[in-house]
Amino acid sequence: MIPYRPEPFTNFLEGQNMRLINEALEKVQIELDRDYPLVIGGEKIMTEKKIISINPSAKNEVIGRTASASQELAEKAMQNAAETFKTWSRVPAQHRSRYLFKAAAIMRRRKHEFSAWLMLEAGKSRVEADADTAEAIDFMEYYARQMIELTNRGRKTLVPMTGEDNDLEYVPLGVGIIIPPWNFALAIVVGMTTAAIVSGNTVVLKPASHTPVIAYKFYELLVEAGIPAGVVNYLPGNASDIGDFLVDHYLTRFISFTGSRAVGLRIHERASKITPGQIWMKRLVAEMGGKDAIVVHKDADLELAAQGIVASAFSFSGQKCSACSRVIVHEDVYENVLNRCVEMTKQLKVGDVRDAEMYTGPVIDEASFNNVMAYIAIGHTEGRLVIGGKPAGDSGFFIEPTIFADVEPDAHIMQEEIFGPFVAFTKARDFDHAMEVANNTDYGLTGSFYSRNRGLIERARTEFHVGNLYINRKCTGAIVGVHPFGGFNMSGTDSKAGGPDYLLQFTQPKLTSEAL
Ligand code: GLU
Repeated sequence: MIPYRPEPFTNFLEGQNMRLINEALEKVQIELDRDYPLVIGGEKIMTEKKIISINPSAKNEVIGRTASASQELAEKAMQNAAETFKTWSRVPAQHRSRYLFKAAAIMRRRKHEFSAWLMLEAGKSRVEADADTAEAIDFMEYYARQMIELTNRGRKTLVPMTGEDNDLEYVPLGVGIIIPPWNFALAIVVGMTTAAIVSGNTVVLKPASHTPVIAYKFYELLVEAGIPAGVVNYLPGNASDIGDFLVDHYLTRFISFTGSRAVGLRIHERASKITPGQIWMKRLVAEMGGKDAIVVHKDADLELAAQGIVASAFSFSGQKCSACSRVIVHEDVYENVLNRCVEMTKQLKVGDVRDAEMYTGPVIDEASFNNVMAYIAIGHTEGRLVIGGKPAGDSGFFIEPTIFADVEPDAHIMQEEIFGPFVAFTKARDFDHAMEVANNTDYGLTGSFYSRNRGLIERARTEFHVGNLYINRKCTGAIVGVHPFGGFNMSGTDSKAGGPDYLLQFTQPKLTSEAL
């Protein structure tokens, strides 16, 4: 088998690439405003109630409408997934992996089309959408190989015993509930779903209500790749209708969630209660928020640091849990770094993702827009606005990239996740002070440290308490297999998506010892 290699990103300045993505956009544009069913065991079901997905760059444009499941339909999906588990769990791992290889190959061929859907439904620039699609392909390629490796691992790692045949198998768990986020509307949906199914589980996939159409496109691709009916049940629905119902269900064996801290903690609490008929402890894999910091020491390459800060804070409008929302700079170089970031931010064009010149797109919806604007109002009381701070046109949910300076470490805008194009700067007296401020949140997802000092880099490696620590580079953009992703504390269960241990969370090891 060819070893795993991450999917290369598309350079839109080269060759025909810009033409290809623009053609894909035109094709997708014609397919907007359609209706999509939910799917249980291969049966397509339309409902009266709908989830309406709109383009955050153009509020009046409907991306599509999906069915919206009731509890009766959720019950049907659970029963179906449980029934399908009986057969799918017996399909050999190699065989299961091949479905993913096939699905990855199809997605690679239709890469720009998927990216175009991401641009319109999630508000991603061409570059960000392309990275999202590449990551989706990577997850399938990577987890398929990981499953094969896991299957071979057990026997190899056991200590041999004469007169016995011993094997350690990683067997699937059962029915999983997949609750992905809207921000990596393809990559994370694909990663969470395919990790669970390649491990032999069946799933009920409840897509994010902002981005259900791209999730349906992925579902269709799985069907095209031949995945048997009922392995993935596509079940869009309002959280208030079916969220708790699915989590609480006695057939739910595990929940794989990526999203906000509030929802993650709610799931954590509910999943710990035993429902009548339930004969296991539910497992929870939860990736939640971040309040990620970039720390710049006085001896750093300041230009490099400023580039890293601006990219980490404002790409995809800061709507990544890995996004930089706090910048902690040594006092000797504070003004330099701040000024350089302001200059760079001035160059960023905000606007509709179809505009090839834009860098910062919209935020996802009106609630998010209002939330970021409310934090800007708080920012005025907690710091000095140096750039941005205003809406940027009203065809979509646009907000100017915003920087507040001179903010105290305990300020609201230094502690609470904002999920928008918003970053706060604070000054550090020295390295120790910088680390103290960097670690002073409930979260611990990503962080970057910029310095040329080997001794301090080594100290940061130990003292900067985050799941993904980056030295002299931006704190976003983890690549599958290269940078396993997940965080500490309130950032979640540190599941390390795209890493060698991820599939363990969707399996249970079974030891069989046969006397010979
Ligand atoms: N893995 C992404 C990154 O490294 C972030 C994922 C997320 O926002 O959930 O930027």
